[in-house]
Order: sequence, then C-alpha cells, then structure tokens
Amino acid sequence: MRLLVSRAQTARVSAILRDEFEAEFRDKDAPMTVAEARAALADYDALLPTLGDAFGAAAFTGPIRAKLLANFGVGVNHIDLAAARAAGIAVTNTPGAVTDATADIAMTLLLMSARRASEGERLLRAGEWTGWAPTQMLGAHVTGKRLGIIGMGRIGQAVARRAHYGFGMEIAYTTRSPQNLPFAPPPLPLHDLLAWADFVVLAVPATAETRNMIGAAELAAMRPHAHLINVARGDVVDEAALIAALEAGQIGGAGLDVYAKEPLVPEALRCLNNVTLLPHLGTATEEVRDAMGMMAVENLRAFRHGKALPNPV
Ligand code: NAP
Repeated sequence: MRLLVSRAQTARVSAILRDEFEAEFRDKDAPMTVAEARAALADYDALLPTLGDAFGAAAFTGPIRAKLLANFGVGVNHIDLAAARAAGIAVTNTPGAVTDATADIAMTLLLMSARRASEGERLLRAGEWTGWAPTQMLGAHVTGKRLGIIGMGRIGQAVARRAHYGFGMEIAYTTRSPQNLPFAPPPLPLHDLLAWADFVVLAVPATAETRNMIGAAELAAMRPHAHLINVARGDVVDEAALIAALEAGQIGGAGLDVYAKEPLVPEALRCLNNVTLLPHLGTATEEVRDAMGMMAVENLRAFRHGKALPNPV
C-alpha cells in the first residue's frame, strides 16, 4: 500500500505512519495544489490530507489509483465529497478529537474580544500604558450574559457547557438537528437568535448551505454591543461585510480563528482594534494533534485490513 502524508505530523504519529505504512511525507507545510492532489490520487493507494489541500472537483479529473482520503481534521470542505464518491474513494475524518480544544479556543476568543485583551496587550507592548484608571479600556462583562450558538454539534455543545456551567451564561442556539439539552431551550430561527444574543459563536461546518450565512443582513440583526466569534470556517462569514460592520462600529467586536482565504488575512481586518485574530489555533496542542493523527491511523489500519472505516464522512 502506497501512502502519502500531505504535511508533517507529531513525532508519535510520524513514527507509526513510517513503521506501519512506510508512508511518504511531503516535505512542505503549504497546502497541496490541484496538480499535486491530482498526481497523488493517481500515484498512491491512500492519502492523509488536511485543511486547505486542493481536493476540489478538478483534482479528480485524471487517472485514479487512490481508494481512501483519511483526512486529518473534522472539517472536509477542502474535499469535493461528491467527486470523491464518484471516483470510488472513501473519505474519513477525525471528529471528537478536536472538540474540547476548539471549544477552548472559542472561549479564549470570546473572553479576549469581550475584555479587549489583544488591544490591551498591544498597548502595553507599545509602551503606551499609563497605569490603571477607573475608566481605562472598559470591555464587555461576560458572566451571566446571553450566548447564541450557531451549529449545536460537538463543538457547539462543548462551548455551551463551558459558557453555561463555567460562566453562568444563558444559552440559545440555532441548528439543523434540534438537540435535547438541559441548559438550552429549543432552537431559535437564526435572526431571532442574533437579535437576542450578547455573544454569537459559529460552530457549523463549511458547506454550500452555510457559505456566507453571516452576511450584512445578519450582522445588522445583531445587537450593537454583541461580539461574533468564528471557530468554524472562514467562508461561513462574508468577510467584507464583517469588516464593514466592524469599521462602522455596528457590532461590539469579533474574535476570529478562521478566514475566507487562509493564510491571507485582509489588511483592513488587521488594522482594526475591535477584532481579535488568531492563526487557526483551534486544535493546536500536541495531545490533540496526536489524537487526530491516531484517528487517521485507525482509519488507515481499517482500510488496509478491509474492515469498516471507523470515521466515514
Ligand atoms: P458537528 O458535530 O457535525 O456539528 C456541526 C453542527 O452544525 C451540527 O449540529 C449540524 O447539524 C449543524 N449544521 C450543519 N449545517 C447547518 C446549517 N446550515 N444551519 C445550522 N446548523 C447547521 O461538527 P463539529 O465537530 O462540531 O465541527 C464543526 C466545524 O468546526 C467543523 O466542520 C470544522 O469546519 C470546524 N472546526 C474548526 C476548528 C478550528 O481549528 N477552528 C477545529 C475543528 C473543527 P446536523 O447534525 O444536522 O448536520
């Protein structure tokens, strides 16, 4: 079995991939181009791709040898699932392993945005802090406030638990499949949720349906002091509309872990003080990247032994 791994992995996962699968590793950390993806599908039996690797429809137009894309990560919006299916290629992902770490980053962003933490740190590092004062850098209080969650799946629920049990927040949500949750009433329509919440967290997958689901109209529906937190995917938010809303002070602020054209983050966004920007850190801990890699390994093992794949998409 020929296996290509698209990016460097943790030491533990790399050792297993080398020992068990004699895997070949791409020597770049940049995403695979369409040409690379097409060539890999023709040359390898299985691939371990990840975020940003260009497995859109164009990648599946040449000869195909591959039978499995064991994706590293839960989001598979960089893979055209219909084209993969039509080419007879199974796709797996790594759900669950990413949940707590991503929920932690959502809370990090929520707190940083509310309490102006990035702005304060920039001020201090620039040597411009003149000392404590009763009205210095007043932010938004978090405890007891209203949190609206868009997409109440694994990550959405993990955020809700942290916010409700840890910060006494009231929880409401909108989602496709209603959940029976002890800490939240039944789902609200999107615009009702936006008009109710002090903080909004996005935790939906990037699909055709969720593309730009937060645009100018949705930002206008938010309360003027509310903060928007995105740990989902960049294309869920109309980035230009968000920049316009932040520039106009139409919402309280935003905390972003993901961007429409990563790693490009618009200059206009980087210039704004009312937005907290993280470089897609959702799952970036050694333990979590190990766990994600091991889930991909389990899918590869099952594939090699002709067993049912543990995490089919
Ligand atoms: P999940 O368990 O599948 O949850 C997603 C939730 O969104 C589900 O409840 C789903 O409903 C709902 N949903 C789907 N389409 C919707 C729509 N059009 N309107 C409203 N709700 C909709 O997935 P997860 O593990 O929580 O991950 C969510 C996403 O987070 C991933 O797809 C990934 O893109 C992103 N993520 C980001 C990071 C990061 O580093 N920032 C890390 C991990 C994941 P159904 O159950 O009906 O489908």
